Amino acid sequence: IGCQNTLEALRKAIDSHGLQDTVKLVVTGCMGTCEMGPVITVFPEGYYYCRVQPEDAEEIVTSHLKQGKYVERLCYHAPDGTVQPRKSDMTFFKKQKRNALRNCGLINQTSLEEYIAMDGYVALAKVLQQMTPQQVVDEIKKSGLRGRGGAGFPTGVKWQFVLDQKSDQKYIVCNGDEGDPGAFMDRSVLEDDPYSVIEAMTIGGFAVGANKGYAYIRLEYPRAIDHFTKALNRAREVGLLGNNILGSDFSFDIEIRVGAGAFVCGEETALLASIEGRRGEPRPRPPFPAVSGLFGKPTVINNVETWANICPIIINGGDWYASMGTEKSKGTKVFTLAGKITNTGLVEVPMGITLREMVEDIGGGVPGGKAFKAAQTGGPSGGCIPAAYLDTPIDYENLAALGSIVGSGGMIIVDEGTCMVDLAKFYLGFTQDESCGKCTPCRIGTKRMLEILERITKGLGKEGDLELLIELANSIKASALCGLGQTAPNPILSTLRYFRDEYEAHIKDKV
Ligand code: SF4
Repeated sequence: IGCQNTLEALRKAIDSHGLQDTVKLVVTGCMGTCEMGPVITVFPEGYYYCRVQPEDAEEIVTSHLKQGKYVERLCYHAPDGTVQPRKSDMTFFKKQKRNALRNCGLINQTSLEEYIAMDGYVALAKVLQQMTPQQVVDEIKKSGLRGRGGAGFPTGVKWQFVLDQKSDQKYIVCNGDEGDPGAFMDRSVLEDDPYSVIEAMTIGGFAVGANKGYAYIRLEYPRAIDHFTKALNRAREVGLLGNNILGSDFSFDIEIRVGAGAFVCGEETALLASIEGRRGEPRPRPPFPAVSGLFGKPTVINNVETWANICPIIINGGDWYASMGTEKSKGTKVFTLAGKITNTGLVEVPMGITLREMVEDIGGGVPGGKAFKAAQTGGPSGGCIPAAYLDTPIDYENLAALGSIVGSGGMIIVDEGTCMVDLAKFYLGFTQDESCGKCTPCRIGTKRMLEILERITKGLGKEGDLELLIELANSIKASALCGLGQTAPNPILSTLRYFRDEYEAHIKDKV
């Protein structure tokens, strides 16, 4: 609503000054600066106005658009007081490298023409006209891209498995059931750049020999469903989906399936069951979906962010993507910065950036003069990283060594005023609530753990509670059926590793 009012005021101001034929007003999606909205970028210089209210519109038009003088008070003011008027000046953007988010905030979200103007469909044309399926898979392998949904499995290897299967039918699936608290990167891509996912899924279909795709989008993302539907219809209208795409003999189409609010459907076998119309429950693997997936057929399933990286890799080459990041974690990763941080938002950075750069440079530090205490990465499946490790380069290996994970990219910052036992209890409460109940370790084990945590935070903890928590956590990790249960104890184990004194203080002081 805030943006709409500002947009209307700006449109009126432009019209009233007779600039409607010289200034083009484009409504775009999110630039990732959640804390600063509504924002307006004035091109070609890229002046970036933050928290623009309807009453600011007149000054932007008279001062900037008519006289060329930017409005300083609306520009980003860094925590050290410096004014950073253009997007290219802003510390929030300087360390970012946007591949998956390349078009987000820059183009009209559902305009095929604007997508094409940003090199849209160059990758698909290249694939259909110049490459064999094996060459496409090789390029993805060379890029080192790993699944961005959490598991980090090499995407090209997964595609190779499916390409190698002999089957009368194969499927492509996009996992858009993003449910981690504090993660919203998939939502941004689906809403703001839906064609990037559609084009990439089509390329995936060509690469592995599939002619049918499903995009599973969570119910809680109505705008994403709307934009994706519009983009699908438009792509079909102009022959970018359907039979004989771009005059080739390759045919491919995509259907949307809307989730029904179950977090566990983000787990790939539960998601496939849900698409098939069955109860969304995980099943044991093997067989893996690459061998026996949707309707028992070989299936490539990747999440939204993974798909959003495919087209730039095809255009620029796998080596280009692999030149970013660290030795084993190539490319860029989207993170959501949330919690006790000045610049909450959505950022995409090369793997290997340090946590300090994320928090202090991009995030603008912890507000209110408080000290940074920890970052919870990987949402409810992850763990916390305390201040002592602020200079750790972020990648899959380093975070695993610290007892956390990259996960889907949620990064919640907590300050010195946060109780880490409460934080762990919050995450365990979430996973306990979302447990599908199919297997005992997760259904009962997480419940027992939560009861102990509740006891501890009410000042009723007793000797032996922490040992019992650790024993339960390890047995759930070892025996739960799916990733939800296997990772549910992580926030407890990690807070016990770094902040055990807080658990002990609750028990000893009975608080
Ligand atoms: Fe269901 Fe939890 Fe078992 Fe996964 S681990 S199958 S969510 S009960």
